[in-house]
Amino acid sequence: MRQTLRAARAGGLLFHHFVMSIPVPSLDALRSNFRGELITPRDSSYDNARRVWNALIDKRPAVVAMCAGAADVMATVTFAREQGLLLAVRGGGHSIAGNSTCDGGVVLDLSRMKGVRVDKIARTAPAEGGVLWQELDHETQAFGLATTGGMLGDTGIAGLTLGGGFGWICGKYGLTIDNLLSVDFVVGLR
Ligand SMILES: Cc1cc2nc3c(=O)[nH]c(=O)nc-3n(C[C@H](O)[C@H](O)[C@H](O)COP(=O)(O)OP(=O)(O)OC[C@H]3O[C@@H](n4cnc5c(N)ncnc54)[C@H](O)[C@@H]3O)c2cc1C
Repeated sequence: MRQTLRAARAGGLLFHHFVMSIPVPSLDALRSNFRGELITPRDSSYDNARRVWNALIDKRPAVVAMCAGAADVMATVTFAREQGLLLAVRGGGHSIAGNSTCDGGVVLDLSRMKGVRVDKIARTAPAEGGVLWQELDHETQAFGLATTGGMLGDTGIAGLTLGGGFGWICGKYGLTIDNLLSVDFVVGLR
């Protein structure tokens, strides 16, 4: 963690105090291997990038990694592990407890990963981690298909599914998690 030592003279006494700054580790290695955008406290877009749905949550990550694809996700997980930084994953950002952000660590933001591909014959819809329910519904409804999502459209499909997920049609089709067929895992193990 970077520390700034400041000394001040007052009345002949020398006072030292440490000002703990938000750690901004060298991002060069990650930047060279990243297709999306890395946002740090130095950027004007930082306050917008660190915002989550619950306005009571006011955390200041060292970097927000706006991933553009799976390779960015893998690079971000590896970077956080190598730097020994806390990692928070954000999909739709609706965690009321603020679990999708953190102080001083890395926010792995999936919100720009919006791919959805509906297979009408197989009745499946592979979708990326940044997709919201209103976006998934938009794509599946074009084929006359639907699955259990949330009551509101702006929650993320990933976070809601990880919590089980209940919505308008769960009485007939079960919880969201009951309709999940497979996931791609990115693990941070050495
Ligand atoms: C206004 C509102 C309405 C809601 N309505 C409903 C409802 O009708 N039905 C219902 O079941 N729930 C509902 N919820 C609860 C909601 O499902 C949870 O808050 C859910 O966690 C939000 O998911 P998210 O992706 O939007 O949030 P995020 O904050 O992005 O993520 C939530 C959690 O999941 C983790 N996560 C997200 N994506 C991934 C990923 N790809 N890999 C690993 N971890 C991940 C995050 O790290 C975090 O811990 C509602 C919440 C709100 C605020």
